Amino acid sequence: MISVDEARERILSYCSVLPAEERPVLDAIGQVVAEDVVSDIDIPPHDNTAMDGYAVRASETAGASDAAPVMLRVVGELAAGYVFDGEVGAGTAVRIMTGAPMPRGADAVVPFEETDEPEGRAFGSFAKSRDVVGVRKAAGAGANVRDAAEDVRRGQRIIAAGTLLQAAQCGVLASLGRARVRVHRRPLVAVLSTGDEVREPGEPLRPGQIYDSNAYSISAMVLEAGGIPKRLGIAQDTVEALTAKLREGLDADMLVTSAGVSRGDYDVVKDVLAKEGEVDFWTVRMRPGKPLAFGAFPSGGRRVPHIGLPGNPVSSMVSFELFGRPAIFTMLGRSDWQRPLVRAIADERIENTDARRVFARAIVTRRDGRWHAVLTGSQGSGVLTSMAAGNALAIVPEDLPGIAAGEEVDCMMLY
Ligand code: AMP
Ligand code: MG
Repeated sequence: MISVDEARERILSYCSVLPAEERPVLDAIGQVVAEDVVSDIDIPPHDNTAMDGYAVRASETAGASDAAPVMLRVVGELAAGYVFDGEVGAGTAVRIMTGAPMPRGADAVVPFEETDEPEGRAFGSFAKSRDVVGVRKAAGAGANVRDAAEDVRRGQRIIAAGTLLQAAQCGVLASLGRARVRVHRRPLVAVLSTGDEVREPGEPLRPGQIYDSNAYSISAMVLEAGGIPKRLGIAQDTVEALTAKLREGLDADMLVTSAGVSRGDYDVVKDVLAKEGEVDFWTVRMRPGKPLAFGAFPSGGRRVPHIGLPGNPVSSMVSFELFGRPAIFTMLGRSDWQRPLVRAIADERIENTDARRVFARAIVTRRDGRWHAVLTGSQGSGVLTSMAAGNALAIVPEDLPGIAAGEEVDCMMLY
């Protein structure tokens, strides 16, 4: 038997980051930027006001108070998006709205609250009604002014190659005027179910048959990890059927099959894989899951890595979580595939009967200032609802016979 970590290392040694492509920014969420993004503009482009109020010469407001307001002549009104033509000269002010560029001559903004302007008066109604404002508090030079380029300076590198594109990076790119970005391509992952008993959801079941849940859970995990699933459907347990389906997947960056890797009589997967490419059959020291196939298919000068997951639906998902997701991350150029671990109190005993690493389906919640883990019920590797009910995998190490109720357990947070 090999350890989970050894299996993962071997698999990742077959995976490398994919070439870059240019994408619309919003389609590239979860992809890794493949260029150094340098700004060709200043942000903000000019000094502008951080408050609604009056743009003034700060020096003229010296000594202003409620009792002795400084009276200034209002020479204009300026909304964000417009530029004031004139200048704020001696004894004058411009009524100004947040984001509007500072008028020439002004070096501070006095917020409405510090003037004698009645509150709540709508913008636009002023010019007609009033042409003088009383400033009730002195403003320092630069008060309430946002400097040009305080966020981004022209010529500055704003996003380095290798950065994960998330919401904030998306916004930053847009602020630079960029609607497209170069990112490492998403892996295309071919997903194939095998087994004579397995049927496509939506079709009627005959006696002895079950629906194909693996193709759905695994394709969904591919999507969640940032890959693109290519569903190949279901291959019957014959050499011909399986060989034909596998060949349809060879344009992908990775191939994932489920079932047929254990010691069943009809497990033709082994025979086909061994004939078509390199393949290794492993027993991994983990529960659920234990049998795992891994190999590579030659395809047009490339080697397409192949992960052969166990058929049991929970084993299949947990194995994909531990091996398939890190493989997708690696192809995306991400090294952060490790899930956050939370140390929780086990509210019930978690067994480890045969010295494997146990990944128990758990619900982890915060209670009385501590994290607590409870199991999702029956832990059978065919009980897929145990996966659906949980948000975490509670991990019992290989060398412990279990975690007693009340003891701490590491929980891999899935959601
Ligand atoms: P096997 O790995 O072929 O021995 O299958 C192990 C168990 O997983 C059997 O009970 C299969 O019926 C079940 N199984 C295999 N493939 C699927 C699938 N795609 N969806 C749901 N269950 C499956
Ligand atoms: Mg089978």
